[in-house]
Amino acid sequence: MEKRDYYEVLGVSKNASKEEIKKAYRKQALKYHPDKNPGDKKAEERFKEAAEAYEVLSNDEKRSRYDRFGHAGMSGSSGGFGGSGMTVEDIFASFGDIFGDAFGGFGGFTSGRRSRRVNKGTNLRVKVKLNLNEISGGAEKKIKVKKYDTCTACGGTGAADSNSISNCPTCHGTGQVTRVTNTLLGQMQTSSICPSCGGEGKTITRKCAQCYGEGIVQKEEIIKINIPAGVGKGMQMTLSGKGNAARRGGVNGDLLVVIEEEEHPELIREGNDLIYNLFISIPDAILGTYVEIPTVENNVKIKIEPGTQPGKILRLRGKGLPEVNGYGRGDILVNVNVWIPKNMTKEESRIIEKLKESGSFIPRPDKNDKGFFERMRGYFD
Ligand SMILES: [Zn+2]
Ligand SMILES: [Zn+2]
Repeated sequence: MEKRDYYEVLGVSKNASKEEIKKAYRKQALKYHPDKNPGDKKAEERFKEAAEAYEVLSNDEKRSRYDRFGHAGMSGSSGGFGGSGMTVEDIFASFGDIFGDAFGGFGGFTSGRRSRRVNKGTNLRVKVKLNLNEISGGAEKKIKVKKYDTCTACGGTGAADSNSISNCPTCHGTGQVTRVTNTLLGQMQTSSICPSCGGEGKTITRKCAQCYGEGIVQKEEIIKINIPAGVGKGMQMTLSGKGNAARRGGVNGDLLVVIEEEEHPELIREGNDLIYNLFISIPDAILGTYVEIPTVENNVKIKIEPGTQPGKILRLRGKGLPEVNGYGRGDILVNVNVWIPKNMTKEESRIIEKLKESGSFIPRPDKNDKGFFERMRGYFD
């Protein structure tokens, strides 16, 4: 079946706000809710379709990818439930909170199996500092993370043994309690999270001694992170499922890796380009010379032509940093300065005085000198 446009599915415009998208999804979800349309396959499809659209459009990063590439941009996306594979239970696990108040107020949606709460572990955030060399080539970093992990003694159940777990007597394992009240308008049914088990549907008679019934223990783990080449300061990578484990089984949180950048002693980063501020002497500018320019990997020797003006920019193509998506590299821009001494000996001053009178030292500005424009452009970009 051809996939429908996500905006069309939710019935919102391309520039709908987050709030509008949330509202539209809620409306769709309530309309096609499985409990309202029992046995209606078509309604279930619509329900899933709306959840998929909401999953993408409610996430800034996924939404912008979808806006640019359409459905093609969504395949292989990290996290989420990858479209058609998701079940109604997944939807409740992910977006259940959206329905919360609506369901409490409506009554009638008493499907305990679906609304049993799934615990989610919290996200962890770590910072990783990289130097230009690592940014240029990509890096494998090992970082020590203190996090909650599933307790191995009880397998995350929190119980001393399997006989110590039973269905909660209050909600009979559904995680929800339903109350029927008689009102003037007839019977009203309201459901809420079971107060005895907190919605988990289970009670533990004897707790695991290792984790005191929590199902998780704190430990240190060394996590290997492969950082792609070309990343920049402030970028964030998400390693899904590498965060804290959830209490008594459930879904792990994510590990968020924030990139930091170590300053290079000589090169200044400007996007994917690197800028090097070169100083040469007056005689070298006049007579020409060879100079060494640092790059990320090594030094390269370049020629300074005789008669090079200060402010000239030399471009070393492809010597900059790679694009983070893997296409092309930036350049190194060498900004040529000529060093003008402030203090000189009498002898030096005498030589300069002499040069002043000689014809070649009278300025002859060149309006076509591109170096100037190239330099100015940097200020106005
Ligand atoms: Zn345990
Ligand atoms: Zn219960």
